[in-house]
Amino acid sequence: LHELLFADLGERADRVALVDGTSGASLTYRQLAGAVDRLAAALAARGIGKGDVVGILSPNTPYYAVVFHGILRAGATATTINALYTADEVGHQLRDAGAKMLFTVSVLLPNAAPGAEKAGISDVVVLDAADGYPSLSSLLANTEPVPEVVIDPARDVAVLPYSSGTTGRAKGVMLTHRNLVANIVQCGPLLKIGESTKILAVLPFFHIYGMQVLMNNGLHVGATVVTLPKFDLPEFLRVIQDHRTDRVYIAPPVAVALAKHPLVDQYDLSGIDTIFSGAAPLDVDLAAAVAERLGCRVSQGYGMTEMSPVSHAIPDGRDDISVGTVGVIAPNMECRFVDPATGEDVGVGERGELWCRGPNVMKGYLNNPEATAATLDDEGWLHTGDVAVIDENGLVSIVDRVKELIKYKGYQVPPAELEALLLTHPEIADAAVVGVRDDEGEEVPKAFVVRQPGAALDESAVMAFVASQVAPHKKVRVVEFIDAIPKSASGKILRKDLRAREVR
Ligand code: ATP
Ligand code: MG
Repeated sequence: LHELLFADLGERADRVALVDGTSGASLTYRQLAGAVDRLAAALAARGIGKGDVVGILSPNTPYYAVVFHGILRAGATATTINALYTADEVGHQLRDAGAKMLFTVSVLLPNAAPGAEKAGISDVVVLDAADGYPSLSSLLANTEPVPEVVIDPARDVAVLPYSSGTTGRAKGVMLTHRNLVANIVQCGPLLKIGESTKILAVLPFFHIYGMQVLMNNGLHVGATVVTLPKFDLPEFLRVIQDHRTDRVYIAPPVAVALAKHPLVDQYDLSGIDTIFSGAAPLDVDLAAAVAERLGCRVSQGYGMTEMSPVSHAIPDGRDDISVGTVGVIAPNMECRFVDPATGEDVGVGERGELWCRGPNVMKGYLNNPEATAATLDDEGWLHTGDVAVIDENGLVSIVDRVKELIKYKGYQVPPAELEALLLTHPEIADAAVVGVRDDEGEEVPKAFVVRQPGAALDESAVMAFVASQVAPHKKVRVVEFIDAIPKSASGKILRKDLRAREVR
């Protein structure tokens, strides 16, 4: 990976690679590559090299890229940790991944320090500075030679990101150098970004989408990546305005805010060319509302941690493709649509589980041979767990996860479809749908609804609204109003948390 991104900087050496959207601090490509080399040298001097795992627990900053690529440059493996994790979760991931060292930031020390201790790690480096810990700048001040490492791209694990934990405990995903490089190259013809592109990077680098699509694809083409440490609507809008970022990557919850929040009109967002959504289902009406309000393109892609991550996207420039689809398959990949019950391929236009194969598909799950065997078959097909449909033009639409489909009287109801419909209601700010048991033990769709401020909507009005627009088996049969829909840091509705409320 290092070679692909840094071997030949050419004319981009003095261009800005990364800039902190809040403070304005930046790194040019030359500074980035130099810092990556010096960090690799410092790690080698500490005894970190091939086969070792190093944790990163940090929000997005330009130095995230230094640490990430420094670890890989030293031949070691980076395990990227969700910045919202508790101390226990941090400790679990560090131990599960077998990490020897941790990079973090001072504000996260209250979770990082006990997490590292649980995992028996004493070597903790703080990116900014904190009493009692070495800082990143002290490591970068070293004058050791850059280590000579030989990478076996198909075998050596470059990163161990963890899946989002949407359906259960997050799984460690082994991605090799070849997996990462393959997906960056595969994205080339899909994402027409270049040296003049300014990418807004609010999606976290610890998650595969931020890591690969925002950071690594951006660095590969010589773009400028503008980082934000967390999603805060006013700051997000200000940075888009002040930095005039033209390419904004989001997950669907951000689209909800962009379509519905009054604050959006107070900023000049005319610099945006494309808003690209991934990670969870994006409703076509919501996308249209965002495109209309902001006067920009809205595009979509699909992927998963296990595919490094992109397998499908609407290629830039293909404005003829509906944003209700996830577009076309990435180069060098194959896909199938399979009836999970029979294992037979279904036809064009029919729903089946999406299976994908290609050079970006993971080596396997870490420490979890059962999960690996259940997901990756002997012929190299990754069973995504998502239900999808392909049309006669090769365009793919994601229906929902196999496991999330609500089984109502023998019919299958995709919750994502009902959520999208609920969001079209002017008095609904957000919504999520799960299957719950009614008094007869039958599974029925239940909607959790967040009302717009001041809205007087009641349960029966929500049910009547849905009933007026769907087939009878898809009707919402229970409604509960809540303050906020639980979502993961990568922007997914945590339906498992909503289901857990039901059994209490
Ligand atoms: P876990 O596997 O731990 O339960 P997760 O599947 O949410 O968590 P990720 O690898 O972050 O972890 O997410 C991949 C999943 O996200 C896909 O399997 C799919 O369900 C969903 N997804 C990604 N992009 C899209 C999209 N454009 N439309 C619909 N769903 C999407
Ligand atoms: Mg998953």
